[in-house]
Amino acid sequence: MIPSKSITIVGGGLAGLTAGIGLRQRGVPVTIWEAGNYPRHRVCGEFISGRGQDVLIRLGLNSLFEHAGAVLADTVVFSTLHRTFPVHRTPRSALCLSRYAMDALLAAEFRRLGGELRVSSRWAGPGFEEGVLRATGRRPQPAEKGWRWFGLKVHARGVRLTADLEMHVASGGYVGVGVTSGGAVNVCGLFRRRAGAADTAAGGLELLRGKPGSVLWQRLGNAVFEPDTFCSVAGLSLSPRRASGQGDFSVGDSVTMTPPVTGNGMSMAFESAELALDPLTAWSRGVVSWEQAQKAVAGRCDRVFGRRLFWARVLQWLVLVGAPRSGPFTMALNSDWIWQRMFRKTR
Ligand SMILES: Cc1cc2nc3c(=O)[nH]c(=O)nc-3n(C[C@H](O)[C@H](O)[C@H](O)COP(=O)(O)OP(=O)(O)OC[C@H]3O[C@@H](n4cnc5c(N)ncnc54)[C@H](O)[C@@H]3O)c2cc1C
Repeated sequence: MIPSKSITIVGGGLAGLTAGIGLRQRGVPVTIWEAGNYPRHRVCGEFISGRGQDVLIRLGLNSLFEHAGAVLADTVVFSTLHRTFPVHRTPRSALCLSRYAMDALLAAEFRRLGGELRVSSRWAGPGFEEGVLRATGRRPQPAEKGWRWFGLKVHARGVRLTADLEMHVASGGYVGVGVTSGGAVNVCGLFRRRAGAADTAAGGLELLRGKPGSVLWQRLGNAVFEPDTFCSVAGLSLSPRRASGQGDFSVGDSVTMTPPVTGNGMSMAFESAELALDPLTAWSRGVVSWEQAQKAVAGRCDRVFGRRLFWARVLQWLVLVGAPRSGPFTMALNSDWIWQRMFRKTR
């Protein structure tokens, strides 16, 4: 029998760890290089929604999420600065778990399955050559189409929610306030500034609190923020990228990011990792070349994600541009039919 060739995964985030776990379940030798360590807080709405939930079930990971304290979210409500729209029920419950717990539990599971995990180890190889899967997350962009995008997140206590996830249109972005594990609420925002514009004096927590007098500001009036959970990320790129034609073999945000308003990025990380499992296993066993495996996965990612990335851009446009103009945004949020369709189309 031909021994399996080993696979190196660069990046121990959700995509890298999920791919590592799936490969170990198939008996493939895997080493993951992770620049950071576990557990740690990450900027994320912590709202898993979409087909990635089925990937967790297929890989036997959903019970680990439940044991780690994942909670379900069934309702979503949108607010502009001074107006709240009707509460909508999600067609399927989303799974909410702190990234502090999530990444660490996947890392532990990967190790339990015999994977080698090198933490605090930044991959500085010449590139992503044969046998090296790229799962390094977003491809940093200082600015995109004249905007600089950045994300902020903090956990808070003492917040009474009117739905499991509240989405607030904030100045220069949007903020999600939602249930998460451990009895806290997660406050996570995406913001944009004109490239070249001077930074405002407002700190991260002030941005997350929203404009004084706004619905968001009132909602967080009694919030007690947990400073250790505060984190930020910059250099985000939200323009969709096709996987085909990319020089390296990628999964997760390395392929493309979806606008966070969809709450589908983690799902895409799990899904792309699963799509890569059979081709990577076939390469490891000498059945296909690296190039063939890469092309197969890129083609599948483009087919599966293309349509939802289009609708995700429409949704983000509605929130960032449509909300202040009111018309299409108001119509979409007052109609449960439109809302449900939009929800389905973005995942
Ligand atoms: C503001 C905001 C809110 C979001 N909210 C949600 C949400 O509610 N629901 C949802 O589904 N998604 C959400 N997302 C998206 C979600 O967080 C990402 O899609 C998901 O984390 C992608 O997983 P990944 O494994 O591809 O990347 P990451 O989780 O970023 O992991 C990449 C890993 O690679 C490591 N790495 C990078 N370079 C190297 C190197 N050279 N060597 C070694 N290691 C390296 C990094 O340290 C990191 O751990 C949100 C994103 C943002 C910005």
